[in-house]
Amino acid sequence: MMMENDRPKEACGVFGIYGHQSAAELTYLGLYALQHRGEESAGIVAANGKKAKSYLGMGLVADVFGGRFDKLLPGHLSIGHVRYSTTGSSAARNIQPFLVDYAGGGQLAVAHNGNLVNSTQLRNHLESLGSVFQSTMDSEIIIHLIARSRKKDFAEKIVHSISQLKGAYSFVFLAGDMLIAARDPYGFRPLCLGKIDNAHIIASETCALDLIGAEYLRDVEPGEVIFIDKNGLHSLTPFPKKKHSFCIFEYIYFARPDSNIFGGNVCLTRKMIGRKMALEMAADGDLVVPVPDAANYAALGFAEESGLPFEMGMVRNHYIGRTFIQPTQSIRDFQVRVKLSPIKSLFRGKKVVVIDDSIVRGTTGRTRMNTLRRAGAREVHLRISCPPHRFPCYYGIDFQAKGELIASSREIEEIRQHLGVDSLEYLSLDGLLQAMPVDSKEFCTACFNADYPLKPNEEIAKHRLEE
Ligand code: SF4
Repeated sequence: MMMENDRPKEACGVFGIYGHQSAAELTYLGLYALQHRGEESAGIVAANGKKAKSYLGMGLVADVFGGRFDKLLPGHLSIGHVRYSTTGSSAARNIQPFLVDYAGGGQLAVAHNGNLVNSTQLRNHLESLGSVFQSTMDSEIIIHLIARSRKKDFAEKIVHSISQLKGAYSFVFLAGDMLIAARDPYGFRPLCLGKIDNAHIIASETCALDLIGAEYLRDVEPGEVIFIDKNGLHSLTPFPKKKHSFCIFEYIYFARPDSNIFGGNVCLTRKMIGRKMALEMAADGDLVVPVPDAANYAALGFAEESGLPFEMGMVRNHYIGRTFIQPTQSIRDFQVRVKLSPIKSLFRGKKVVVIDDSIVRGTTGRTRMNTLRRAGAREVHLRISCPPHRFPCYYGIDFQAKGELIASSREIEEIRQHLGVDSLEYLSLDGLLQAMPVDSKEFCTACFNADYPLKPNEEIAKHRLEE
C-alpha cells in the first residue's frame, strides 16, 4: 500500500530563469528548494532561444533528474515545475511544464501554481471550438487560449488569454526567446522576482533564490505580467485591481520557514502565531513539543511566550520515500508511527503541550496522540495554530470537499474525544490575523470562514460542499 499522508498538499512550485548559460542547472536547483510544494512530479523545459526541449518525470526532483543534466538542452532560458495534483489526476500526461508547438507561434511552455475556478466553462467552450486537450489539468487551458488568440502582438495574446481566467494562478511561461511571469490580481499564491549575475529569475518562494545565491528584487505584484527577454524586463498591470487575498495557509503550513512571502518572513510569522497561541490558550504543561516540521516555529513562539521549556520531542524519519510499502496490515497504524517517533525519556510522566499547525481530516492525529500516551505522557494538551478547517479551498489546496474536513461535521469536543487528548484548542481567526506581518485585510481565510474572495463555478461549489 502506498504511504497515505494526512497533510494538506500544496498545488505546485514554479521556477523560471532568463539570461544564464547554466539556466537548466539553476532551474534544477531552484526546484530542489521548492520540493516541499510538490513531491509527485517534476519537470524542466530548457531553451536556447531557437529550440526548447522538456524533460519530465514522476517523483522527487532528485529521482527525476538524478543530478544529471545531459537530457536538458543547454541554453540561457528555462522553466521548471514541481507538482501535487489538485485538478487532474497524478498521471504522467499531467506533469508540467507543458510544452507545445503551436501554429504560427513556435514553441510555448507553461508551469502553473494555483487553481482556476472557471476551468470547466473555459474547457467546454474551447472543446466546442475544436481544441483537443492532452491532459486533464486546468493549466492546459491557457495554452489553448493563447494559441487561439487573434491578437497580433504576442504580449497582447498573453494578456488577452490571462484576462479570461478566474482563480488562483502564479504562472511562468517560456515562449521562443522570452520568459513571462504572471500572478492573479488577488495574489493567492506567492511569486517573486530575483537576479543572479545578469539573469532574471522568477520563483514561487525566495528560498529558491537563496539556494542558488540569487538576489531577491521584489514580489511579482498581484495582477502583474512580466516579460523578460534580451532587451530586459518589461512589466504590465493590465487587469482590474482586486482586493488582495494572500493564502494565509502559506504562512501556517505550506511555505518554507526561510522564505519571505507576502511581505513577511515565514519563520518569524509562525513564531508570532505561537506567541498569540500562548496568550489565547494557555495550557498547564511541563513542556511544549511541536509536531515537526511545520509546527516547529509556532511551538518555539508558544514556549517563549509561556515560559514553558521547548523540546523537540518527536523525531521525524526522513528516509521513508514515497513508495514505502506497509509490511503487513496487522501492524496497525504503522505508517503513522514510522514517520514520527516520540522520545520516551522526555514524555514519561509529563504533562505535554503539543503544537500542531492544523487538523484537516484527522485521520493520523489519533494514532499520533496515542503514541505520546504510549511513550508515557501523563496528559496531552493539543493546541492548533489556526482555526478549524470547515470549508473547501477552490484556489489550489487539496482540502477540496467539505466532507473531508473533520471540523465541518464535528464539534471541537467531539474532535478532542476522537483524538483522545486531554484538551484541544484552536487559535481564533482574530488571533491568527493579528500575527500576520502585513495588513490582515489582505488575506484569504475562506477555508475557516467561507468568506470566498472569488466565487467558484456553481457546479464545482455544489459538488465540494455536498461531498
Ligand atoms: S481557502 Fe484557505 S487554503 Fe485556500 S487560498 Fe484561502 S486561505 Fe488558502
